[in-house]
Amino acid sequence: MVQQGQIDHLLQETAVIQPPPSLVSQAFLQDQQAEYQRSIQDPEKFWSEVAGELEWFKPWSKVFQWDYPTFKWFIDAKCNITYNCLDRHVAQGRKNKAAFIWLGEDGSERVYTYGRLAQMVNRFANGLRSLGVGKGDRVVIYMPLTPEGAIAMLACARIGAVHSVVYAGFSVGSLQGRILDAQAKVLITGDVGYRRGSKVDLGGICADAVEGLDVVEHVVIWRRESAGEPLPEKYVDFDQLLSEGAIHCPAEEMDSEDPLYILYTSGTTGKPKGVVHVHGGYMVGTYYHFKTYWDVKDNDVFWCTSDIGWVVGHSYIVYAPLIAGATTVFREGAIDYPHPGMFYEIIEKYGVNVMFTAPTVLRMLMRYGDDLPQKYDLRTLRYLTCAGEPLNPEALKWTYEYLCGNGEWGYVVDNWWQTETGGPCLGTTATMAAKPGRVGVPLPGAVLDIVDREGQPITEPDKGGLLVIKQPFPHFFRTVYGDPDRYAQDWNTIPGVYFTGDVALRDAEGYYMVVGRADDVLNVAGHRIGSAEVESALVSHPAVAEAAVIGKPDELRGESIKGFVTLRVGSDPSDEMIEALKVHVRRELGPIAVPSELEFMPSLPKTRSGKIMRRLLKANELGLDPGDITTLEE
Ligand code: AMP
Repeated sequence: MVQQGQIDHLLQETAVIQPPPSLVSQAFLQDQQAEYQRSIQDPEKFWSEVAGELEWFKPWSKVFQWDYPTFKWFIDAKCNITYNCLDRHVAQGRKNKAAFIWLGEDGSERVYTYGRLAQMVNRFANGLRSLGVGKGDRVVIYMPLTPEGAIAMLACARIGAVHSVVYAGFSVGSLQGRILDAQAKVLITGDVGYRRGSKVDLGGICADAVEGLDVVEHVVIWRRESAGEPLPEKYVDFDQLLSEGAIHCPAEEMDSEDPLYILYTSGTTGKPKGVVHVHGGYMVGTYYHFKTYWDVKDNDVFWCTSDIGWVVGHSYIVYAPLIAGATTVFREGAIDYPHPGMFYEIIEKYGVNVMFTAPTVLRMLMRYGDDLPQKYDLRTLRYLTCAGEPLNPEALKWTYEYLCGNGEWGYVVDNWWQTETGGPCLGTTATMAAKPGRVGVPLPGAVLDIVDREGQPITEPDKGGLLVIKQPFPHFFRTVYGDPDRYAQDWNTIPGVYFTGDVALRDAEGYYMVVGRADDVLNVAGHRIGSAEVESALVSHPAVAEAAVIGKPDELRGESIKGFVTLRVGSDPSDEMIEALKVHVRRELGPIAVPSELEFMPSLPKTRSGKIMRRLLKANELGLDPGDITTLEE
């Protein structure tokens, strides 16, 4: 745990960035503090008011029930999340509004209105029904990031089947493991995905994964390159199911606590776990944050750079933007392909107003240099939000300067959450000052604290401890699929609270800093140092694009620090560079945090969702078993 009086590089970051007045004046949530207080003083009233904005087939008899560690929201209520995503908009005059603008790496574009999307989801839902899929059945979706992927998810939800999306590109073993864990009856896949101009053979991976698996009754395949070819036994053509399915498929009436999906966490540590989210509470909570935090207006274009393989893609590509009736851009492939200016080109071309991206993307843009963003008109970009990893001050400040015109038109903020929380818990909102290095404050509904291992609150400002959640909100996960004991563990590691696995601290103004996973904290000569601190110091050197540090056993000091560094375009590895970086860290943090070794790498190992995998670097370094690396990006 990072403790007071020790290394506090990030704490020395005192810059404060004020939100642009133009953003503040039109923000939906004018008084974040008042809203927050309202949400925690009477959560049942607060959330039932939000739920009242949506359509239910039958209202709840009771709002909340907690039998620690399990809980329920909107008890006895009946609903279907897709009814709120689709039918409600078609009925309310948004039939011809664009729901999705999908972009392909090759420049292709497809626009789906709410009306058209509803039709396709209905047809495909009927198609799934014709295969015998019904309420409660599990369906694994291994689809490229395409409208067909989203349609498959929505069609499952429509008929009450529980989807489990597996990021398209995971290996045979991880796909098979997830199919078996969920006991999925149907697998929906594509024949190929496209990334960086190459084909990913999804069909081949699926064929290997289902071989000998009796549990899988059907494989539905969406064929982009192999249409018309004969299909093996068990296989069904996606487009055929779609075209033969009748155009109306009434949404299955679901209990608000019925499972909507299983999603295996990205697994930077340990074995992936099947996080379960439900129809009712998830619908209410993710919608609320989309409306109030992302602040997307009726006329806005929202772009989320995540993937349907991650929770951000579930909540903020597919479900919440549709519930809110927004227009969302998403794109298959690599964000810097076919050229490094692609990111900017999309903002300019589609007039993107609000974005959701990840620190790794911003650091990649930084790496390509300052000139590129200045070649595009980015003035529509009002609000750029970022989550997934600590957003280092350098990347935030660079983004503010180059993508937001130094606040002339835009603002960049951080938010923190996990697969388990379904939506954001900490964040800097549109009306709040941003403090580089700090995520922000608890968002409505989230009662968080920082505690020691015994669960005692740490009230002293800027003293690190374990980040915990004290009570469940509607969009919090309900269980670990097939493993309630593992679920209970999360609520019992520290008595009386849910342990997020992260280390954080809080300043006198209530802004949190999430330092990283508890397992990533280093111990050097008795000093506990967050890996994020040393990484931030390294990245603040002008030659460095990204950095990861690990601890290596050291007889004298307990642990010594090894740093892995990728350089910005235009800087080259050399012994002089190593020396310069060490001097820089010494100046920024003091001698205790200077890495004893530094290694240059062309890129750092990351999970497919863009999180640096320190665990793998450490295992390689020490010749240990890296554990589960199925989520590693190749
Ligand atoms: P996942 O469930 O795969 O989305 O990973 C969640 C984890 O990512 C969190 O527990 C944090 O360790 C990390 N994380 C997410 N957002 C942030 C953020 N804004 N700052 C720091 N860490 C973050």
